[in-house]
Amino acid sequence: SSLSCFSITPPPRFSLPSFSIRAMTSHIVGYPRIGPKRELKFALESFWEGKSSAEELKQVAADLRFSIWKQMAEVGIKYIPSNTFSYYDHVLDTTAMLGAVPPRYGWNGGEIGFDVYFSMARGNASVPAMEMTKWFDTNYHYIVPELGPDVKFSYASHKAVEEYKEAKALGLDTVPVLIGPLSYLLLSKPAKGVDKSFSLLSLVEKIVPIYKEVVAELKAAGATWIQFDEPSLVLDLEALQLQTFTNAYSELESSFSGVNILIETYFADVPIQTYKALTSLKNVAGFGFDLVRGTRTLNFLKSGFPSDKYLFAGVVDGRNIWANDLAASLCILQVLEGIVGKDKVVVSTSCSLLHTAVDLVNETKLDKEIKSWLAFAAQKVVEVNALARALVGQKDQAFFASNATSHASRRSSPRVRNENVQRAVVALKDSDHRRATSVSARLAAQQKKLNLPILPTTTIGSFPQTIGLRKVRREYKAKKITEYDYVNAMKEEISKVVKLQEELGFDVLVHGEPERNDMVEYFGEQLSGFAFTVNGWVQSYGSRCVKPPIIYGDVSRPRAMTVFWSSTAQSMTRRPMKGMLTGPVTILNWSFVRNDQNRHETCYQIALAIRDEVEDLERAGINIIQIDEAALREGLPLRKSEQPFYLEWAVQSFRITNCGVKNTTQIHTHMCYSNFNDIINAIINMDADVITIENSRSDEKLLSVFHEGVKYEAGIGPGVYDIHSPRIPSTEELADRINKMLAVLDNRVLWINPDCGLKTRKYSEVEPALRNMVAAAKLIRTQL
Ligand code: GLN
Ligand code: ZN
Repeated sequence: SSLSCFSITPPPRFSLPSFSIRAMTSHIVGYPRIGPKRELKFALESFWEGKSSAEELKQVAADLRFSIWKQMAEVGIKYIPSNTFSYYDHVLDTTAMLGAVPPRYGWNGGEIGFDVYFSMARGNASVPAMEMTKWFDTNYHYIVPELGPDVKFSYASHKAVEEYKEAKALGLDTVPVLIGPLSYLLLSKPAKGVDKSFSLLSLVEKIVPIYKEVVAELKAAGATWIQFDEPSLVLDLEALQLQTFTNAYSELESSFSGVNILIETYFADVPIQTYKALTSLKNVAGFGFDLVRGTRTLNFLKSGFPSDKYLFAGVVDGRNIWANDLAASLCILQVLEGIVGKDKVVVSTSCSLLHTAVDLVNETKLDKEIKSWLAFAAQKVVEVNALARALVGQKDQAFFASNATSHASRRSSPRVRNENVQRAVVALKDSDHRRATSVSARLAAQQKKLNLPILPTTTIGSFPQTIGLRKVRREYKAKKITEYDYVNAMKEEISKVVKLQEELGFDVLVHGEPERNDMVEYFGEQLSGFAFTVNGWVQSYGSRCVKPPIIYGDVSRPRAMTVFWSSTAQSMTRRPMKGMLTGPVTILNWSFVRNDQNRHETCYQIALAIRDEVEDLERAGINIIQIDEAALREGLPLRKSEQPFYLEWAVQSFRITNCGVKNTTQIHTHMCYSNFNDIINAIINMDADVITIENSRSDEKLLSVFHEGVKYEAGIGPGVYDIHSPRIPSTEELADRINKMLAVLDNRVLWINPDCGLKTRKYSEVEPALRNMVAAAKLIRTQL
């Protein structure tokens, strides 16, 4: 089956509202694809499990695209995006478009279908998936293209054109969105075994011809605008990278006649050199900038913007859920008009709305006042249009007035401010918050107490969340079962997980986190200053979504959050039970944060709350406490100049949580990413006793840092197998990986664990995988 949508019966054409003819200036960079109630997730998972057909999946996808286009058209958006839908990931879609399928997936040419596509995304019985990594500084993950000098690029997925035609058949001339050639190459990695001298950028000559084919086909289909997303332009580009960009677009230029080209940037402002190169491009009709995160763009614009081009002004925040301050935005837009000329400003979102929640109308349980402060993707579309209309003199007074009222209510609401918390944060500023002894001295003290074998085995925390388990939690939440029954069910689950780990031979146990729906939401629900949505889902990778809490006020911890579960679990075993907490930086980075207070201020508040919990756990006799900082790296600002400050307060926040514990209490942390080489000093500076870290999907890239002689004395557990895939690794394979690690790491510091938590896996996968993992550790112990 192919990815095309030919089999879909087209729904009727829309009738567009009359004002859309005059509201000429609104644009949306991209839109969430998962659906207001995660329809795509359920369709994908049912298809993957063989419970529904490819046709059924395609129908759900087509229905979702239809309703998105319909909403934007009815609101009156002028430039409506297409090809922002994806069955898994838009970078993988680009890999498919370019025919850059790694040979191991056995693709023999022709249009790329579901089989090859989903094998690349998820692996299959015989081949692991391609690597996945974070999309810039977001919590969205993309599939990393693997390229080498031998890749034979070909136009192998016509999805962009098909989506364009699909919308066209509905009466809409959409703007097809492509990831531009520079960003595509910069998001790629060299394929395994490729010579070190190979440069990814050298492939630009080979991919540009494919882009030309796509552009030609889109033009032939009637496209009047094409959007090239080049978010990499906001990075600190080297001269060669910028030159590659300029070359690529000069080369593409010949195909740009007869169609308007928009180059869209987002997530930060572009550096001034890049701004100059970008706005010097001749055959391009418009440039898009993120005016929410890009605070310097306004100055750049003042210093010069080509008179015949459109400015796509991203004033509506695509990364957050707060209602736009319409009056303030309108002011900015008017200033921009003064700079670039009337009718040259197109009102837009700061980036794709992929990174915000889908639709506020489904939030029936949210507090009314808080709800009035918010706007999700569907509401942001309305805001963009309202601003665009206001700019051409069609201001909707009532809409602007109610927006002003909700902003005033948020500014003055007593639920936002807590004086005690504010004072505690101010008091933090006089100390370094560091444990008194060195990590090696602490590890020695801990070993005396814990008496662990060499290469200790552990897991990252969660065990599979079965349907039964989720049901119990749901029913308890809906008050269908009593607290007593709920607690008993959880205890039973914990006892099962404890017994399993004892049977498998683990050294450090976990309770399995059965009481947690999500590692951030669970804590947010028990902290003050957080609000929750029912359907505020954001895609994380493939069918996986997260529902970030909303931090709206000062954060504090009214009572202990995990002590009962951890001490209950500890009482079931004589082996050490790890207490399991989410760290402040991760809570911050995986929440929708306040935009009325600095991020670091909010982070310190969370750190103080987690510190209370750490100390309560220690008092309750928990000797190992893991404080997950899964998302520390992804909060790293994209621009180098902003990174030191972030790392300083992020690392400080982590240390605040545990600087007060005894030497004998072992602090673990866990991180969900592999490219930590550039922040290794910050990680060492966190001063944790043991770090477990994702590793297996990136060919032990992270281990290379230890070759370079970094002085690293803490314990470390680089994941030995990929938990994102259903594949079960063999004992031999795992032993092999462990040996590779021992080639670079001292056997006294190495821990053996999977890449991440197991909550999304099935017991039928987890049990044999863990059994093999413990067996591999035991085998190697005998060989040391
Ligand atoms: N302790 C968490 C778990 O195991 C960590 C998850 C994560 O790192 N994303 O689920
Ligand atoms: Zn993880």
